[in-house]
Amino acid sequence: MKIPMNDRRGASAPSALRVAATALLVSVAYYIGANIGFILRFPPSTPSVLWPPNAILTATLLLAPVSRWWIYLLAAFPAHLVAEMGVPLPAPLVLALFATNCSEALMAAVCVRRFSDAPERFDTLRRVVVFVLGAVFVAPFASSFADAAAVTGLMSEPYWRVWRTRLFSNVLTELTLVPAILTVVTARSSWWQDRRLRRHIETALLALGFVVVGIGILTGPAYGPAAIPGSPYTLLALLLPFILWATVRFGPEGASLSLLSTVLLAVLVSTHGRHPLMTLVTPETAAALQICLSVFAIPLMCLAAVIEERRRSNEALAERLRFEELLSRLSGDFVRVPSNEIETVFESSLRQLGEALDLGQLTLYRFPTDVARVEVVYSWSGPGIDRVPGGTAGDEFPWVIRQILGANPVAFSGPEELPPEASQDLDTFRRLGIRSNLVIPLGAGGRVLGSLSFVTYVMERAWPDELVQRLHLVGELFANALAQREAQEALRASEAMKSAILASLSSNVAVLDRDGLIITVNDGWVRLARDNGGSADAEAGVGSRYFDICRGATGMSAAHADEAVTGIRGVLEGSSAGFGLEYPCRASRTETWFALSVVPLGRPEGGAVVSHTEVTEQKLAELELQRSRQELTHFARISTMGELTASLAHELNQPLTGILTNAQAAQRLLQASPPELGEVGQILADIVEDDRRAGDVIQRLRYLLKKDEAQFHLVDLNVLIRDVAKLLNSDAVIRNVTVTLELASDPVLVNADAVQLQQVVLNLLLNAMEAMADCAESSRSIVVRSESSDVDAVHVSVQDAGVGLRQETHDLEPFYTTKPDGMGMGLVIARSIVEAHGGVIWATDNANGGATFHFSLPGASSDEARA
Ligand code: ADP
Repeated sequence: MKIPMNDRRGASAPSALRVAATALLVSVAYYIGANIGFILRFPPSTPSVLWPPNAILTATLLLAPVSRWWIYLLAAFPAHLVAEMGVPLPAPLVLALFATNCSEALMAAVCVRRFSDAPERFDTLRRVVVFVLGAVFVAPFASSFADAAAVTGLMSEPYWRVWRTRLFSNVLTELTLVPAILTVVTARSSWWQDRRLRRHIETALLALGFVVVGIGILTGPAYGPAAIPGSPYTLLALLLPFILWATVRFGPEGASLSLLSTVLLAVLVSTHGRHPLMTLVTPETAAALQICLSVFAIPLMCLAAVIEERRRSNEALAERLRFEELLSRLSGDFVRVPSNEIETVFESSLRQLGEALDLGQLTLYRFPTDVARVEVVYSWSGPGIDRVPGGTAGDEFPWVIRQILGANPVAFSGPEELPPEASQDLDTFRRLGIRSNLVIPLGAGGRVLGSLSFVTYVMERAWPDELVQRLHLVGELFANALAQREAQEALRASEAMKSAILASLSSNVAVLDRDGLIITVNDGWVRLARDNGGSADAEAGVGSRYFDICRGATGMSAAHADEAVTGIRGVLEGSSAGFGLEYPCRASRTETWFALSVVPLGRPEGGAVVSHTEVTEQKLAELELQRSRQELTHFARISTMGELTASLAHELNQPLTGILTNAQAAQRLLQASPPELGEVGQILADIVEDDRRAGDVIQRLRYLLKKDEAQFHLVDLNVLIRDVAKLLNSDAVIRNVTVTLELASDPVLVNADAVQLQQVVLNLLLNAMEAMADCAESSRSIVVRSESSDVDAVHVSVQDAGVGLRQETHDLEPFYTTKPDGMGMGLVIARSIVEAHGGVIWATDNANGGATFHFSLPGASSDEARA
């Protein structure tokens, strides 16, 4: 399919040189035309049979813009003067004749331009009729009055004869010469540009026919046996088949050129032919010849126009059908070919389109997300074009890209048609040698995804609206294909991303759907399942019910597996926002620990992501940490005991001294006769009591020094505080410190390790005593308070009247001590114990000196208390 090239449009203002050259050409043509007119004249009358200058001027005015008409008319003036110099005419007549010639051309050009949609063309009936009426009849008719008046006035020739002769000669000349000149100058026709050999041969044959017949007419014998009967009229009639041939096969151009040839031949025969009958024609027979030729030419021109119109509409229809066929073929390709082979469809479609439109290059561009990076998806180049498509740098065609992003097509036939703001684009067009370009935006889903760029390099071409509309349809095919391709790329990228994320996770992950079926797993999960021998074919885990394979695949104990299944079900059903569990994996030889974490899958269909992360190391580190903390606590306790040695000795001393004194008294009573057994019994009871007191002290001490794992029980803090206070009793006495207990009347219950909490209280009391070491003895007092501050928490405070706090003490910094033999660990251990119990410890300054240390712990509920 070939879409015909249109003519150049919108030619920009030509250079002064070009105008001058055209003016010179007009001048020369006018001169030659005038001389031909003189040759074809019947002396002694002034008007000629054919008068080309007027037709030459008419053709010039039809082609030139109105603003330059004066230049060309002026250019014709010297030619007129020079041509008329050879003829003995008075000067005023020469001027008058120039004026009438110009007036005829002006009238013809104005009429035709006013009523014809393409004044320089004769390819529709309307254009031919407008031309015949305006340029062939009205202009010669009107201008001949003035012409005849001038000739009659200055040369005394009969008025009506001059008028008639001039009218007929000008009618014939306008009718035949103007279309021929326009045909040659615009050289538009497909025939002119047709590159087919057959067409050239046909043209040559046609020309040959004219030449042979012409020679026959002009040189053939007029008499004798060799003469063709009725010559030259018979021979002139012989031209008719050639004229019809030219009209039918070559349209208005063929008709106008063949008519001109015929007229020239006929006039030449009449004026200069060798035939005595013809050369002796009178002005009347010349007029008859002119009328005859004119009448003959008008219907022929109309016929040519009609044939051309018909041919064009047939061609348009055929072309439309071919385009529809191409379109359906392309859409078929786009639909049939699987999306992963869409590249091949791009390639073949661009080639078919490029060939059909006879383009230089056809490129499919894609705008990724930012237009600064335009991508060439595929580019087809016509034969002999080895240029790289432009526009890939994004800033090469900024104006075009702006238009395209605004979903406006860009079409220009010749870079001159671009607006001034497209200067950068114009530079690129010039650099790449682009002659004409149509760019169609490819939009889908409200976004411009790319563009199709149709480029010609060798010739300029027009982009009629109808063609642009049709190419828009093609563009839609490409746009949809691009959108599909983009969607698939995005899908592929997201799949790849998903797999990459899954693969990069160190945890063992399985993704479940809302029914608990495994949708996908990562490599880690496959390995975990394989190591635990949970599934013969670990990959087959995908698609099976997670709950069924959970135990085997993860090496969980039955209890943990049940717990996990319940937790996962909760997440899948949406009743819980997540689930976590730590479990030991028994399947392998060495014990490993895993943390199971379940989070809902954030998608409308639901589901969950289950991950098993090995936490053996953390677990071991945690256990190690716990052990070290216990050891440190134990060590701190022992060192605290060290500080208490004196008071403990004192504490033990009392009952032991009592036992000793009582035992000595009992000895004495037993030695008396009779022994005072009643007294002895009383003394023995005292000894037992003292012994119990000593035993209590030792018992408490042992309890405190026990190296044991933390054991949580329900503890009444009031009892605990009293016990510690008792332990410190002697120490307080020695240090002259009064310890006052202001404890809550009800039990203050916590779930705690009693030994650890005793250490906290002991530490706080010892610190308080030591802080008051340098204070006046009268003011050395400690108040210990306990309360259940609210339902959930209990609060204990130890208030002293000592030196008060330093910043470091506020912050409970480790290894900060002001004591010569201190370690600076007491408060840190107290804090870690309190925090391990879910509580907090802090210190405040008292308003009237000294510090208060507080700690609060979660209270145990009364249910727990009862239990
Ligand atoms: P140590 O008793 O081994 O010094 P602690 O952690 O128990 O370690 O105490 C750290 C420091 O905090 C003490 O040396 C003391 O300076 C300060 N401190 C502790 N309790 C009090 C208090 N009630 N009043 C003032 N300072 C205190």
